[in-house]
Amino acid sequence: MPDDYYEVLGVQRGASDADIKKAYRRLAMKYHPDRNDGTSTENEENFKKVNEAYAVLSDKEKRGVYDQYGREGLKGQFGSSAFSFDGQGFEDLFGGFDDLFSSVFGGRTRSSRRHGGEPGENLQYDLAITLEQAARGDTVEIDVNALRHCDDCQGTGAKPGTSPITCPVCEGTGQQAINRGFLRVASTCGQCRGEGQIIEQPCHACNGRGRRPKRKSLAVTVPPGIDDGMRLKLRGEGADGVRGGPIGDLYIQFTIKPHPIFERDGRNLHCRVPISFANATIGTSLEVPSLDGKLRIKVPEGTQSGREFRLRGKGMPGIRSDQRQGDLICQVFIETPRSLNAKQKELLAAFQESLDEAPAKHSPTHDNWFEKLKSYFNNNGDSE
Ligand SMILES: [Zn+2]
Ligand SMILES: [Zn+2]
Repeated sequence: MPDDYYEVLGVQRGASDADIKKAYRRLAMKYHPDRNDGTSTENEENFKKVNEAYAVLSDKEKRGVYDQYGREGLKGQFGSSAFSFDGQGFEDLFGGFDDLFSSVFGGRTRSSRRHGGEPGENLQYDLAITLEQAARGDTVEIDVNALRHCDDCQGTGAKPGTSPITCPVCEGTGQQAINRGFLRVASTCGQCRGEGQIIEQPCHACNGRGRRPKRKSLAVTVPPGIDDGMRLKLRGEGADGVRGGPIGDLYIQFTIKPHPIFERDGRNLHCRVPISFANATIGTSLEVPSLDGKLRIKVPEGTQSGREFRLRGKGMPGIRSDQRQGDLICQVFIETPRSLNAKQKELLAAFQESLDEAPAKHSPTHDNWFEKLKSYFNNNGDSE
């Protein structure tokens, strides 16, 4: 066998992806170890070379490097993984022939169905919790509907009192040798569908499937600090496996319900707190909400609307224990008083007059604002 990958596959240097795939498919069949009678290792060596060539030429990036720098270039850029084929897309490439490759790419094929060890499905449960539950962690009872072992037949699928028999066609192996043209390939047994066993008298309760849908109550421990969109894996809480197969997992997908007061930003919480114009002016002690109950903040005199007060450690806990608790950020906004009576309006008008005596002194933005106005009119021309 030649060393050059194009020569190995017997294609031109500029060959299309489709041609490369076709050539590979033909050669992989030809040299497949299953077809080797065991007297020579030549086929096996050739099979490896064909796979290596295809691993490189079927990958656009690797092919580019190979064309320019050869094998050495590939080693530098991809390491030893450059020459191995990960088996991705094999089913697509070989369609119904995947059983043929079970010995080469073990673990990826469906042969695990043999002896009925089909794994249970993984399930997802959408769980909406309150912000308080997310903050302190909580135990939430949920009902999960999943396929579970049929009690009547103990999960065998056979009518109580009977047992499944060994498949006479494949003698329990689940595999059947069939001829496909000149090829002799191992295929899933058609009689038992690869399970190696046949149920002669199915269980009535589960129709011979060995599983039935059942509700199960489960206590989910909510990890403190959990955030919207996070997922918790509960190993072994999914569907039961088929006839002794492993049990699936359950994924809890969390949604945090909107909170009437707090908005969450990672570990920090935000809230907006109204304050009267007078209190913001003269300063006050203001009551603010927190997840631990009411707290007080000191609002100094002359506080402007939009000012934020940060209460350290009063936010959400970090989801990992090494993370500090977040902060609570209270933003005050000043409310304009309304529905004033005549007396109040009079007082306010008198108050405004007193301010007008020294406007720049009382207005924090005064100078800045009039500066802006002046330059705006200078640049845009006074309409007078
Ligand atoms: Zn049953
Ligand atoms: Zn069979």
